[in-house]
This record gives sequence, structure tokens and C-alpha cells, in this order.
Amino acid sequence: MIKAIRGVKDILPSEARAWQYVEAISRKLLEDYGFSELRTPIFEDTALFIRSIGEETDIVSKEMYTFPDRKGHSLTLRPEGTASVVRAFVEHKLYAQGPYQKLYYQGPMFRYERPQAGRSRQFHQIGAEVFGLAEPDIDAEMLILLNDLFSKLGLVDVNILLNSVGCPERCRPRYKRLLQEFLRQNFASLCLDCQQRCEKNPLRVMDCKNESCQSVLAQAPVILEYLCPDCLRHHQEVERLLKVADIPYRINHRLVRGLDYYTRTAFEVTASGLGAQNAIAGGGRYDRLVEDFGGPPTPAIGFALGMERVILALAGQASMPKPRPLIYLAALGQAARQEAFLLIRTLRQKGLRAIMNYQDRSLKTLLKQADQMGASLTIILGENELASRRLLLRDMVRSTQEEIALDGDNIASLLEAKILA
Ligand SMILES: [Zn+2]
Ligand SMILES: [Zn+2]
Repeated sequence: MIKAIRGVKDILPSEARAWQYVEAISRKLLEDYGFSELRTPIFEDTALFIRSIGEETDIVSKEMYTFPDRKGHSLTLRPEGTASVVRAFVEHKLYAQGPYQKLYYQGPMFRYERPQAGRSRQFHQIGAEVFGLAEPDIDAEMLILLNDLFSKLGLVDVNILLNSVGCPERCRPRYKRLLQEFLRQNFASLCLDCQQRCEKNPLRVMDCKNESCQSVLAQAPVILEYLCPDCLRHHQEVERLLKVADIPYRINHRLVRGLDYYTRTAFEVTASGLGAQNAIAGGGRYDRLVEDFGGPPTPAIGFALGMERVILALAGQASMPKPRPLIYLAALGQAARQEAFLLIRTLRQKGLRAIMNYQDRSLKTLLKQADQMGASLTIILGENELASRRLLLRDMVRSTQEEIALDGDNIASLLEAKILA
């Protein structure tokens, strides 16, 4: 028997409702905030990701699904969404279509990582990017949007973590040197990986989960104290706006994204009860990337949320909405089945959710099947009912029964009223 590939999961019908719920609420809220959907292909030229994410990163060096196509071009299944959105933004000159652009995307991403709870090799993200705004207002708005989204989803136990990574011209070189000096003084207490990072990319030490490294970092210099005046003003304004909007957040000094294209605002949202992999969304400002891709200088900011982890967190907290009531047509005998076959079409045209039996079975069996399939109302059509043009409507929850006239439109409005009651 051929099974699904390790680290890749089927989303079964019993789970898909939660996915649809998160997708529908996210989509609605993003549209309310003025975002439009952008759908990019799932695979791209490998060079796109090497250039945007960087050759030195774990994603590019170890985790990408890269393969040659039949002509030998190197293609890669997208490991994240931003690179493709930036490519499309530049390629289609979307910057010429208005003062700024708000775009969102959703879909699968692919990384060859060790599978564990909340992390699969095909995982799913919903992401949003804003192009053309350098103002701190939009940084604050992105966090307000995430706050509103998680509260609409019913996820109460979340934390918004905020930091600034400054600019690559003035803030970061100075801070990197200071951090490097500090790490060298504590070199012996660092893990082997961090000893290497110390020389190549000291900021990445911040992400290390090693306990010894963590305790060293508790004493490390914090970047917020070394921001240039412009970056500091930007950061203070983001904080002020969050306070004005009454959005709870915490400053996290370790939140420094190791990629060079990040500028100023960096943020993460964590949810309780998820263990070590507790980040459910993350993002930041990247004011240089569009220019790096051959577009005009365009400030940008974005975030992505991980569907698997959001759904995992929801399972512990929110109550998922119930599916729409299901109506079961139980038809006994050939003539009744034919009648049901036509009646069910009328019900569906009226927007009702209905199924029927396609095989001859006893009434007892059909009622059992209706129950098994989750019907809340069952309509019974037998030879007698057909002759008298009166059907039986059975309420599966209350186990009550009543007679109704065989008339499609009439039945549809009666069912609607019952469902609403
Ligand atoms: Zn700066
Ligand atoms: Zn370490």
C-alpha cells in the first residue's frame, strides 16, 4: 500500500471544518482591512529564494525542495510566501497601480524539516504584505489586524511580541559589533553552533534554544538601546499607536530576525499550550527587498501566520461553529426514490443541505444511516406517503414526527423555518 510521504498530512473532513473556519475569518478580516488576494505559483525559479532568503540560512542551505525540471532548470517549491509576492509585485509593476498596495495570500509552503507537532513538510500559511508605506502607522495596523484576527477566531491566550532591528546602515553594524564583542567574552559558554554564528552572523545566536546560550543572552546588550534617532522615533511611534489602540504587547529583545533585509519593526505572536513551537505568526518590515529585486525603492511590511499551529491552538481554546444542518431524504421503493430524487434538487436549489439514500433499504436501516451521517431532519417517503401526497418529517434530535404536504417549495420553506428555530 502506498502511503502519504513522511511529514506530509491529509486534512480529513473532520479537520477541514476548522481550516475553513480560520480561512473564512482571515479572508473576511483581511478584505475589511483593504487587502486583495494575490495567488502566485507554488514553484518558482530557485534563484528567487536564494536571493531573497539568503544562501547562508537554514531554509536555503538545508530545507528547500529543489529539483530540475525536464529541461534542467532548477525549480523550488516555495518555502515561504514573501519572495513570490515581491517578485509578482515587481514583475507586474503593481507599484504603478496606486499609492500603496495591500496584498494577501494563502496556501501551502514546503520545507524539509524534522516533522513534529505543528510542523509538517507541507505546511500552510496565510500572509499579508503592504508595499509603499514607510510610516509607523501601518506597522501598528498590522499588529492590530493580527490582534483582531486572533480575537475573532476565539483564540484568547496569545502574546504579541515586538522589537526593532533598526536599519542596516546605522543601527545594525554598531549593534552587531557590540554583540559580537559580548559573545566573544562569553565564548566558552556558547554551544558549538553559536560559536560559529558569533563570527558569521551574531544576531542568529538570539534564536538558539540551548539553555547555556539563553542564560548568556540574558546579559547581552539590547538593540533598542542602540537605535539611530530615526529608527528610534519610528519604534516609539509604533508603541504609542499600539497603546492608543489598547493592544497588549510585550517588547522582546531576542526578536531579531537574522536576515539582512529586515528593517525596523519585527514582531511575533505566540500562543500558550503549544510547547516550544509556540509562534503562530511572525513578520516585520523589509524596506530594501523590492529594490533588491529590481523594483523602485519601496518600503514594505508583512506577516505570515501558520495554519497548522493556529488550528492546534484553537483545538484547546475556541468552540468551532457547527456545520449547517443536514437533511436526509429516506425513500422506500423505486417510485418514492424517483420522487425524492426530484424533491432533493428543489431543496438544494433553495440553498438547503440535503442527502438521500440511493439504495433500497428498510426504514429502520435508513433512519440509522441518517443518524450516522449526521442528519438533523429526515423526510420519509414511502408508498403510502406517495399515494396521499403527505410525507413524514422526523426531527432526529427530538425524535418527533409530523406530516407535511408533498410540495417542494412548501417543504423548503418549512425546513428553513425549522432549521432557523
Ligand atoms: Zn537606524
Ligand atoms: Zn547556542
